Amino acid sequence: MATLAIEPVSCLRDNYAWLAYDRGEGVCAVVDPSESEPVKRALAARGLKLTHILNTHHHPDHVGGNLALKAEFGATIVGPGKDAARIPGIDVGVMEADTYSVGSHLAKVFEIPAHTRGHIAFWFEGDAAVFTGDTLFAMGCGRLFEGDPPTMWASLSKLMKLPDGTRIYCGHEYTEANGRFALTVEPGNPDLNARMAEVRATRAQGRPTLPSTIGLEKKTNPFLRPNSPEIRRTLGLEAANDVEVFAETRRRKDVF
Ligand SMILES: [Zn+2]
Repeated sequence: MATLAIEPVSCLRDNYAWLAYDRGEGVCAVVDPSESEPVKRALAARGLKLTHILNTHHHPDHVGGNLALKAEFGATIVGPGKDAARIPGIDVGVMEADTYSVGSHLAKVFEIPAHTRGHIAFWFEGDAAVFTGDTLFAMGCGRLFEGDPPTMWASLSKLMKLPDGTRIYCGHEYTEANGRFALTVEPGNPDLNARMAEVRATRAQGRPTLPSTIGLEKKTNPFLRPNSPEIRRTLGLEAANDVEVFAETRRRKDVF
């Protein structure tokens, strides 16, 4: 079995929809199409026909292209079962620990609420890839629109259990700004400094900084590092628990 080819489609200002396809099997999914036209152009350029639309959550910049793409291709829309009423055109609602296959490529579903109540991730274990929407970003995490810090920490902790080599495909190109914030709370982290040098060079060339990996995020993402002594010192929270450190990190990022 070939692994899925996964490629970004730039949408709106800083969104990525992701094409995930297997030519041999004739399957092609798009993850979180904010708009239809860039996705159609990307499909046409590659000679692909869309078979599936996967949504991580209901925000318009993740589902805005659903209905137009479904009308054109008859693609099956798969999204969070607990948020089905907010997913345009949904055909299949999936829940925690459900699986869904795109051709022979099996995705395991995780419910990862807090950015939205219904947010899910799709983990393609055999392809070493996870689509994290707006929950886990490169060096960042999503805002807590519909959940509290303990809920988001539990969601991120689920993702942290995936193998270190798992590639992370998220919904936005926020990496450089996230990294600038990360340096304010953990300036002495050598992995973070090395990564930021790479990210700045990549962005200077206009290229995507994604995918990341679980292993790299665990070393450089301040939201996954509440046990870092340096972060705790910076925040003045040496004796706090992980959720309290996470919550303060998130609060500071909200006003960064
Ligand atoms: Zn969102």
